[in-house]
Amino acid sequence: MSATFTDLKNKPILITGATRGIGRDIARSLATQGSHVIFNYRGGKQDVAEELKKELLDLGASKVDALEFDVTDAEAIASKLGDFVKENGPITGVVNNAGISKDQIILRLKEADISQALDVNLKGPILITVALSRGFLKAESVSIVNVSSIVGLMGNPSQIAYSASKAGLIGFTKSLAKELASRKVRCNAICPGFIDTDMTETLDPKVKDTYLAGIPLQRFGNPTEVANLTCFLLSDASSYITGEVIKIDGGLYI
Ligand code: NAP
Repeated sequence: MSATFTDLKNKPILITGATRGIGRDIARSLATQGSHVIFNYRGGKQDVAEELKKELLDLGASKVDALEFDVTDAEAIASKLGDFVKENGPITGVVNNAGISKDQIILRLKEADISQALDVNLKGPILITVALSRGFLKAESVSIVNVSSIVGLMGNPSQIAYSASKAGLIGFTKSLAKELASRKVRCNAICPGFIDTDMTETLDPKVKDTYLAGIPLQRFGNPTEVANLTCFLLSDASSYITGEVIKIDGGLYI
């Protein structure tokens, strides 16, 4: 089930990490709202991008643009997004969704894993926001949604780097919300619990069962449920909400 937010029609919204999982469902939901969907994809995934572009147009997107860049590549972010805004005007909705998990017990945690988790999950969203910030100041209203995680709030064994990156994203969300509120830029974070995607697919079945036992709603969430919350936060229906951190976890962290 999904709600319709009429102000999302034609709204140019960037979503990172839309090739799979939660991001793909958010892109689909935005397409059904009639938004102008701008998504990024990594080099070597042109086929996936073309297929997604077609799917989103079929679902009702007013326009679709696919931009090739890695969220860890500062130069590519600045040039691709800079060129896009020059040609099309400001992007007024952003979903910083691309993310990786680098699960490892602390005894085996490598510097490269720490850097990768922080670069993709935290530095990437900041770089993207910096690249779009001048355009934000020219727009009537802007909404940014950062996809954090419940483990950024409650911590989790073997997820030191991941949970630190997701907690950092919450700090970034609150600071940006304070800094740009007077310019009608809102910024919120969402904290999904366990959602059925490739990221949770790799979990040991025994570990999955243990997690499941701790979820009052007794099931993992699905990406469409996360997409619904994201559409609400992108829309003016949430116009008085900023700097907020919203859990979507079936009650896991009550
Ligand atoms: P997923 O299925 O593994 O998909 C991750 C997406 O991020 C893919 O589109 C991937 O692109 C993209 N990506 C990864 N690294 C990238 C990079 N360096 N540059 C550009 N794109 C990159 O993950 P998911 O489960 O949908 O998770 C989406 C977000 O929700 C993540 O931020 C994750 O931390 C968060 N989250 C997920 C859960 C969960 O239970 N699933 C829970 C809490 C939070 P490729 O296809 O090119 O790899």
